[in-house]
Amino acid sequence: MQRVGRYFEPELPSGYRVAKVIDAKDKRTLVMLNVVAVVLALLVLAVSYAFLAPTYGWGEKDAFARDLATFGEARMLDLFVVLVCYMVAHELLHGLVYKVLTGHKLAFGVTLTVAFCGVPDIYTYRRCTLASLLAPFLVFNLVFGVPLAFVGPLDAILFSLLLAAHVSGCSGDLYDVGLLFLRYTNPRTLVNDDGPSQRIYVPEERA
Ligand SMILES: [Zn+2]
Repeated sequence: MQRVGRYFEPELPSGYRVAKVIDAKDKRTLVMLNVVAVVLALLVLAVSYAFLAPTYGWGEKDAFARDLATFGEARMLDLFVVLVCYMVAHELLHGLVYKVLTGHKLAFGVTLTVAFCGVPDIYTYRRCTLASLLAPFLVFNLVFGVPLAFVGPLDAILFSLLLAAHVSGCSGDLYDVGLLFLRYTNPRTLVNDDGPSQRIYVPEERA
């Protein structure tokens, strides 16, 4: 498979300039991403509730409250265990896409505020970067979202919380996706992703 020139470049080609640096360790970026994360979590919970409420009957607040309490007592450990496995699987999925498309060495890690996976030694083209950024978001929307339609009330609460944690945990990925979709649309755009930070490079305009 022809990967260089299609999915990545081993070195930054001449005629490129840095257009944007996103650093998850930078305080302002961190605050912004966390606000986005909270908003996303609330949005998913609101949608899940709208989805769950009819199964209780809209007036049945007590039955819902009872199930929530039961969940708190009986299922919190499940939630915690699945969340830890999810965080690992999320990063592995970024890595899998990078690995398949570039064949390059990955960097994994965790800091106090972010878990990450990147390919620090190379420059990945826009489509490769987008594929890696979007893979966990799309896959886990299905993994946590689809069962909501089929499971009983306690599992529905579990999957709603997982979905909310997942979508809000993707805030950093989605921010990068938004930039690549809306602002840096040139297919020759390159990204150097070392994990916690991403540098976006665009070809210099010819005068
Ligand atoms: Zn991610």
